[in-house]
Amino acid sequence: MSDKPEKLITDDGLRLDGRHADEIRPMKIEIGVLSRADGSCYLEWGRNKILVGVFGPREAHPRRLQRADTAVIRYKYNMASFSVEDRARPGPSRRSIEISKVSREAFEPVIMAELFPKTAIDIFVEVLQADAGTRTAAINASSIALADAGVPMKGLVTSCAFGKVDGQIVLDLNKEEDNYGEADFPVAMTQDGDITLLQMDGHLTSDEIKKGLELVKKGCKEILEIQQAVLRKKFETPVEETEEEATGIESEVVEAELSLEYATEAAAVDDIIEEIEGPEEELSEETAEACAVNEEAPECEKLEEIIKEAEAEVVEGETIEEVIEAEIENETEEEAFEDEAEFEANLEASYEEVSEPEKLAESELEETVSEEAELVPEIEEFNEEEAQPEAEAQLEEPVGVEEQSQPEEEAKLEELEESQLEEEVQLEEEVEIEKISPKETFESESEIESEAESRKEAPAEQAVEVEEEAEEEKCKGPWKVVKDPSESGSRGENDE
Ligand code: UDP
Repeated sequence: MSDKPEKLITDDGLRLDGRHADEIRPMKIEIGVLSRADGSCYLEWGRNKILVGVFGPREAHPRRLQRADTAVIRYKYNMASFSVEDRARPGPSRRSIEISKVSREAFEPVIMAELFPKTAIDIFVEVLQADAGTRTAAINASSIALADAGVPMKGLVTSCAFGKVDGQIVLDLNKEEDNYGEADFPVAMTQDGDITLLQMDGHLTSDEIKKGLELVKKGCKEILEIQQAVLRKKFETPVEETEEEATGIESEVVEAELSLEYATEAAAVDDIIEEIEGPEEELSEETAEACAVNEEAPECEKLEEIIKEAEAEVVEGETIEEVIEAEIENETEEEAFEDEAEFEANLEASYEEVSEPEKLAESELEETVSEEAELVPEIEEFNEEEAQPEAEAQLEEPVGVEEQSQPEEEAKLEELEESQLEEEVQLEEEVEIEKISPKETFESESEIESEAESRKEAPAEQAVEVEEEAEEEKCKGPWKVVKDPSESGSRGENDE
């Protein structure tokens, strides 16, 4: 601790730091220095350095401290051990507790705590460097931090102290004046001039207090201007915001115009979509599915033709749906007849190339043989070792069927194959068979054999089955285009 100077105020009326009696020390304020705090402030006032963090309003813990009608304001003043010349003892002390209490009470009249019941507003003050007047400096910084946190307040709180030094009332004591002066009188007040904190350490007359309070008001007014200037610097961007708002309004107008333009275009697109989707909604679900899979499918073209014809043939009292159904029925019958005629023509062509004794058997098996002509090379090329497990699993069932009828089947097939070698080539040209994958080929091989056996066992049922197939095709609708007679033949249905 430095020795007491002879004079705290020089002969020319200046103080040791060069200030006049009614001057405050230079003040520097920064806002929002702590990222984790809701509000924060760093304040330098002379050689005082104060850091304040505000948290809340937030749920008060422990809950027993909650108040149902208002928020709880907690103020914690702490002086860092390195903040003073002689190391300060860490932790709370009588002095820090006292300063915390009077400082909290300095804010209670302005903080609108009633808006936040059961919550807490925490104000943490850390004195990093002390040079007298730390409580007043902390109140000024806390006021800024509360505003930074957005805590509703009736106004800012400013604080300043006056004292008596060498018999003179001076404003804002420094360390030497506080230590060696005759009185210290800290005051806090609202921006309306209402005093929220008043303490006195020393001896002062009423006139000295009145004079001192006048100095404090002057000092607090200056501090308030600094506080407001700092807050405006951070938050007051009303001019720029106004411009942005104006720009925002313009952009909203532009967006609205664009949306209107788009609405017109969207309406036109919707009309087109309705025109396109309209006829499809009148079709059956199966037809819609078939067309959905392939819009260029022949069945779609047929349906379009049917619809056009139906529209042209609409008679009074008859709906277009009825006309379309009638057209579809006609198409189904015609298609069934066309399939059956093609099938018979293939049979006749096969008969011409086969010897008379074998004609009956050939007519029963010609479809099977025609498939074999296509399938056998693929089967030979297919490597069973490379076959997928799925294909092998699917082969198990047909093989089981094959084993049951194998003796009879093999004998008959051997006879047939010898006489059919020449015939197969011609049947390939006459009957179109779709390409079949290796997996399908394996399935078909066993199916062919079992089918051949079944056909031999029941040759008389052939004509009846063909008729039944035609009827089933009718039920499936006109969009079922059968390119390969083997697909629509009795083979698949018989197996089932
Ligand atoms: N001080 C100190 N050690 C302490 C307490 C205070 O050196 O344990 C110094 C410190 O510089 C402080 C000044 O004494 O600013 C005056 O302290 P006071 O209790 O009057 O509070 P303040 O004026 O800081 O609000």
